[in-house]
This record gives sequence, C-alpha cells and structure tokens, in this order.
Amino acid sequence: MSTFKDFSFAGKKALIRVDFNVPLNDAFEITDDNRMRATVPTISKILKDGGSVILMSHLGRPKDGPTNKFSLKHIVAHLSKLLGVDVQFANDCIGAEAVDKAAALKAGQVLLLENLRFYKEEEKGDTAFAEKLAKLGDVYVNDAFGTAHRAHASTAIIAQFFSKENRTFGLVMEGEVVSAEKVLHDAQKPFTAIIGGAKVSDKILIIENLLDRATDIIIGGGMAYTFFKAQGGKIGNSIHEDDRMPLALEILAKAKAKGVNIHLPIDNIIADKFSNDANTKNCASGEIPDGWEGLDAGIESRAQFAKVILASKTILWNGPMGVFEMANFQAGTKAIADAVAEATQKGAFSLVGGGDSVAAVNQFGYNDKVSYVSTGGGAMLEYFEGKTLPGIAAIKG
Ligand code: AMP
Repeated sequence: MSTFKDFSFAGKKALIRVDFNVPLNDAFEITDDNRMRATVPTISKILKDGGSVILMSHLGRPKDGPTNKFSLKHIVAHLSKLLGVDVQFANDCIGAEAVDKAAALKAGQVLLLENLRFYKEEEKGDTAFAEKLAKLGDVYVNDAFGTAHRAHASTAIIAQFFSKENRTFGLVMEGEVVSAEKVLHDAQKPFTAIIGGAKVSDKILIIENLLDRATDIIIGGGMAYTFFKAQGGKIGNSIHEDDRMPLALEILAKAKAKGVNIHLPIDNIIADKFSNDANTKNCASGEIPDGWEGLDAGIESRAQFAKVILASKTILWNGPMGVFEMANFQAGTKAIADAVAEATQKGAFSLVGGGDSVAAVNQFGYNDKVSYVSTGGGAMLEYFEGKTLPGIAAIKG
C-alpha cells in the first residue's frame, strides 16, 4: 500500500470520505470546526497535485431521510473559506445532480455531496449504494478515522470498487493508523499504558489486550475502586461495579502471570460529597471511611505514577485519573499530563486517545506536548481493544 504523499492526484477525481460531523447551533453556525480543519492538508495536497476533490460525509443522525437540520449545505461557506476555494454543493450524494457535477469538475475544484446518512443504505453498508458513490471518483481516499470502526457504505464497503493502487488513507487517517500501530505493534519498552475513567466495564477489553503488550499498566480514576473493593479494601461511597470484582481479580492474576506491573493509586483525594466545594482530604487506598468517596489520585500516587511514566519509552493514555471536570479533583490527571509531556520531551513516544483524556490534555493546553492526540474516540478505543477496524482493513485489502 502506498502512502498518501506518494500518490499523485494529477488529473484525478479524488472521492474523499471525510468526517464533517461538526456541531451546529440553532442558526446553523459551526461551533467547533476542528474536524474540518484537520482534513484541509489532505484536500490541499490533492488540489496542489492538479486533482479535483469530491467530499462525502455524514452529519448528525438523521432518521427519516433529507432534513434541513442535517444538511451539509450549512457548512459550504465555511469550508470554502478554510480551503480558499469556492466549494460546489450537490443536493444529493447520488443521482443525476451528483453525477453531473462530479463529471464536470476541473482540476483544483471541490464538490461537497449532501449528507450520506439521508440514505439508510449508508449505515447498512449497502453494496449497490456504495457502488453508486464509487462511480463519482477515480481514486478513493478515506480520511474519516472517527468512523473507521463502522462497516458503512462510504467508510468500508466502497473500497472494493477501487483497485489497491487507487485507494488510500488521507493524512488524518494515516496519522492515526501510524501512531496506533507504533504503540500496539512496535512499542519500544518500557511501555506504560495509563488507563483511567469511570468504569472497569468500559475498559476491560483494552486492559486485556494491553496485558500482552505493556510492561506497566497504571489503573486510575473511578475504575480503581472496583479493584480495591475486590481485594477487600474499604472504599466508602466511591464509584465501583460489584459485578466486575471477579474480573478485577482476574486481571491482577493475569498481569502477575505475564509479568506486567499493575500500578493502582496508593492514596486518593477523598470528598464528603460529589461536588467541587466538598470537604476533602488525602487518604490511603483501601481505607476510605463511610460517607466519603475517592475523586482523584492522591499525592503519593501522583509521584509514583510520574516515576513510572518518566522511565517509559512508549506511553498510551486513555481516561482521566479523577473527576478532572471539577477544579479540586484535577491534580491527579494534571500530574499525569505533566509526566507524559516530560517523558515525551525526553524522547518517549506518547499517544493520548479516547474521549476524556483527550479533553483533559486539551483543557490543560498540552496537546502539542505529547506525540499524538487521537481524534477518533470510539474508533481508537476499538483499535486499542485489538479489533480490526473495517475502514482500515478495507483500504489495506
Ligand atoms: P471515561 O469516559 O470512561 O474515560 O470516564 C471519564 C469520566 O470518569 C470523567 O467524566 C470523570 O469525571 C469520571 N471519573 C474519573 N474518576 C472518577 C471517580 N473517582 N469517581 C467518579 N467519576 C470519576
């Protein structure tokens, strides 16, 4: 498979699956255009090569076909501004208008198709629908990592209508794939995975996959309390899942058998209510009194976690160490961010992926202090779980 930069798009019509699923307010103004900005380098390279571009995306979750609320026409003006090109629009993603406008495209021109999800065939992965889309372009580019875990018509099924030489990842997708592969299949050791967040049940598959790859796994956030309770510790009112306690013990036993070091917090910041103005104190793990709950990693834990992180050559971080949305319970997550940034500066490769840890890194202004911040929440989580993503498999073939 060639890389995106090796492709020459001169004289070609590139059909690009992008993720323009951006939030719009009631006046149809874009409130966060990050996903659009992310794709600009991919589109610009194709235009610079002398190709033309046909963009296809979904927007929201339309239930009953075309609806003004979910029309991609609302983003045309902003996209034109970002690209410095007058973007044309087709009021349908298939049919005569799309075919005619795509056929008439000249080098340097850009056409945006209407929302793919106005057809239920898109999410069903319908082959005939995918073929109609495929006919619009000469080359297929997938730059929508956020939907790579879905076997939809435009994200996976469509690839079979292009030869291997005529399908490729775009720069966004390539960045995500290269980073994830580096961590999962080519990690320099020591490799530390930091897994936090609310629930063990959400992260169990990731932890199991990492038990075969990581040297050290830091388990923090709300999920740590299920581990403490399973080991007979006192957790007060801390969040936990009783039904996952056997699983927690199983993870600890498997880690021991495989020689993977599991690091749970030694201490915690506990609070007498789930509120930023609660009374707080630092408390040893397993000794949390009734009426109190653990809401952040404690002072000693932060130092211990930082030591492990600073000794690492590869770092994967998913999930916060506490309720970082509240100022009084963000120090644990901030300490992790600081340590990951410092380790990165010293030469480690660090990948931050999956919803809330990405939000935390952005909140602390650390997104350029780590090696890679993934944009694809659900897709990256499934990647970490060791699953094959249909959107990636389709391009690789
Ligand atoms: P996740 O989406 O699974 O990564 O979980 C992130 C959420 O877990 C965030 O909203 C945090 O506020 C929450 N969280 C982390 N630690 C705790 C805790 N000790 N108690 C309750 N919620 C927590």
